[in-house]
Amino acid sequence: MSSMPLASSFLQSEDFIYVLYIIAFALVIQGLRGLVGPKTAVNGNRIAGLGMAIAVVATLLMPSEGNWALIAIGVLVGVIVGVPAARQVKMTAMPQMVALYNGAGGAAAAAISTLEFFVLASGNGENAVVSVSLVLSAIIGCLSFAGSIIAFLKLQELMTGRPITYPGQQIVNGLILLTILGLAGWFVVTLGTMPVLAFVGLLICALLLGVLFVLPIGGADMPVVISLLNSFTGLAVAVTGFEINSTLLIICGALVGASGTLLTVMMGKAMNRPLTNVLFGAFGSGGGSEPAAGSGGPQQIRSAGADDVAIMLAYASKVIFVPGYGMAVAQAQHSVKALADQLEKRGVQVLYAIHPVAGRMPGHMNVLLAESNVPYEQLLDMEDANPEFSTTDVALVIGANDVTNPAARSVKSSPIYGMPILDVDKAANVIVLKRSMRSGFAGIDNPLYEMPNTSMLFGDAKASVDALTSAVKAL
Ligand code: NDP
Repeated sequence: MSSMPLASSFLQSEDFIYVLYIIAFALVIQGLRGLVGPKTAVNGNRIAGLGMAIAVVATLLMPSEGNWALIAIGVLVGVIVGVPAARQVKMTAMPQMVALYNGAGGAAAAAISTLEFFVLASGNGENAVVSVSLVLSAIIGCLSFAGSIIAFLKLQELMTGRPITYPGQQIVNGLILLTILGLAGWFVVTLGTMPVLAFVGLLICALLLGVLFVLPIGGADMPVVISLLNSFTGLAVAVTGFEINSTLLIICGALVGASGTLLTVMMGKAMNRPLTNVLFGAFGSGGGSEPAAGSGGPQQIRSAGADDVAIMLAYASKVIFVPGYGMAVAQAQHSVKALADQLEKRGVQVLYAIHPVAGRMPGHMNVLLAESNVPYEQLLDMEDANPEFSTTDVALVIGANDVTNPAARSVKSSPIYGMPILDVDKAANVIVLKRSMRSGFAGIDNPLYEMPNTSMLFGDAKASVDALTSAVKAL
């Protein structure tokens, strides 16, 4: 007897495939553990990727998997689209990239459910568990897909990023939700043998709800909603696992769902926005700019030159860098590290204050600063940074705006009122590096710029920081 059939039947045996799955789960979970800190994140990502690769191989080994040509085309399309997109995407465009991938996950769950619906409809499976999970994954998958696409369009500025609201919005959404629940009930009671037209109606209603649910969300709430949609996709994938009896999907979906939910809660907390406010509060729809506190007359803005600021920095004993989205846009992280090196050479203590939602994704600033080899010990979280400002000579704000806005502490009508901020205004001197007086992501004025201890250094963040480094060197 040849050893080939033996080997192939071993490779395709259920036991071997389960062992591969267990190895894959373990690697994915270990990879996720690595993502908790910048030092271990890169390896964590690699380990999780290896886990996913093993899971894909194990799935392909299953004897029931048939159409190799179709699978090869799918893999090829995925590689051709995915690899260059992931390599070329700018760090600042990550939220929309996540939204797009998330939408693809939701669409995949909904597509599997649609396929399974036709299997059920052909009378093969009178199973309550399958029909409940099928209808759930179809609804949540469609909702997540449509919502993610709207989130992508908003963040990519292919449509307005502002909340789109209209009278009776909640009532319309409520009616659609009731229709979905009614159709889902019908589906379950008939064990998935409802008319095709009714099932298509259910899918359309879920898609519509996804669109209408994200339209009124905008501004700084977008990342929170993306994270929420991410947890929806996880949930859709997990229920799809029950539907097609796949432990892999149940575990991976549950991991995504749980981590998405945790991230949603943490981001909401960091912005002091309860989830109900995010979903129904229409961030920033109140007509745009919030008047700066105390701005009865013309603005009192002081503008400084690089040479003056360099003197201030060079003779300071403690300087805190406060990076924000503008540092990411200008790709100024390496220049920032070079300036810090110059100041440290002169005996200045340099620290970095990191706001949890600075930039455009959680951990954005940490990633950029890690890229330029800033020592982790110098990175202070908001809670640790805030007590430091009162003993700081210069707070150098590098392209950050909303996360330093004192209106969040004092102006009750401000859309960001209550959001914890970095208390840069408590420093003896505040220098703000940005290009103009334009507002940040939340679209509101920042009274920090009018405070007596604040000066603006206008220009691209990288050019300004480079000018400061040269000026400090020349002293
Ligand atoms: P902001 O968006 O509030 O402000 C960034 C500032 O950078 C702008 O005012 C802009 O001013 C300036 N800027 C832009 N390009 C440059 C450049 N090349 N050189 C110098 N300055 C530049 O950023 P923050 O980091 O303070 O706050 C983040 C905001 O984004 C928050 O509202 C947060 O809620 C939201 N958000 C956070 C996410 C996260 O998870 N981190 C995800 C999505 C949104 P000017 O145009 O005048 O130069």
